[in-house]
Amino acid sequence: MKITEVRLGLISVPLRVPFKTALRSVSSVEDVIVEIHTDTGAVGYGEAPPTGVITGDTTGAIIGAIRDHIAKTIIGRDVDDFEDLMIALNACIQKNTSAKAAVDMALWDLYGQLYKIPVYKLMGGAKKSIVTDITISVNDPEEMVRDALNAIDRGYDCLKVKVGKEPEKDIARLSAIRGAVPKETCIRIDANQGWTPKEAVRILNGMQEKGLDLEFVEQPVKAHDFEGLKYVTERSYVPVLADESVFSPQDALTIMQMGAADLVNIKLMKCGGLYNALKIASAAEVYGVECMIGCMLEAKISVNAAVHLACAKQIITRVDLDGPVLCSEDPILGGAVFNEKDITVSNEPGLGIKGIEPGKIKYLD
Ligand SMILES: [Mg+2]
Repeated sequence: MKITEVRLGLISVPLRVPFKTALRSVSSVEDVIVEIHTDTGAVGYGEAPPTGVITGDTTGAIIGAIRDHIAKTIIGRDVDDFEDLMIALNACIQKNTSAKAAVDMALWDLYGQLYKIPVYKLMGGAKKSIVTDITISVNDPEEMVRDALNAIDRGYDCLKVKVGKEPEKDIARLSAIRGAVPKETCIRIDANQGWTPKEAVRILNGMQEKGLDLEFVEQPVKAHDFEGLKYVTERSYVPVLADESVFSPQDALTIMQMGAADLVNIKLMKCGGLYNALKIASAAEVYGVECMIGCMLEAKISVNAAVHLACAKQIITRVDLDGPVLCSEDPILGGAVFNEKDITVSNEPGLGIKGIEPGKIKYLD
């Protein structure tokens, strides 16, 4: 199965409600789609969201990295030389993890199709379905309570609440949500680097004393501040999950060696795809650090690849793959079935993606 062409396109999918975090506010998913064509007729699908504020990768950067570096490296190669392909993909350009992730998943898709096996089975095959949380954006307390109750009505039992802009208001927001939702609802929070280490300890322990009963906090401090993260992890009663601090497998290993976080969030766009994500999962298995699988604002092709990883590995115990359910439509054919919180992996060979609805993709060539 030889790679003959790398085709790029753009999709635009509206969100149900604007997505607001401490770092940004957006109203639609605008992603780059990758199709890798082969001489057998098999096509592998990949996707990358431009998340400049997190990964540094803009739409233009993703397109440029794939066109000018990655495509030239992989065209003409055989999918069966998979390890060589993965090493070449990772070595052909520095950083650019979103572009690499999109191509990486398209290649896994093809490799699975070549051997007629679903990718989650190829990587371990621990389970067939997973349960995701849903994100509640930062707004006024009344609006956040409304969004939380709406999520409960839709069947979600785990809420991920965005905080971090105004520490005092955050406590009021979370108290309002905790008071309104059923007692057994799991609430996790994501500060998206919003606090200093000392602020984080003060705020988190204050939240715990107020009985907010938080499962964990995501990335309380700046991404580069591993010592600050460790400071919070050692002093906060709320467990700490490293997100923006962990891009590469090397980052994950350093965080684990330092004991700088209780949990690690794997995202394909940060680490460059499934090949590197598996290394993070393996390190986590060795250190006994449970992982969450997360996504950016992504449509179903790339989130579907994350579903395969989550279903492959026992060490991934938490799931934050709400990208597709935050969208108001789904132009992607095939792949995992997203039924609100319940996600069931596809048993088709590869990643199970069948294509994009006609008219919903704008090809770039
Ligand atoms: Mg996060």
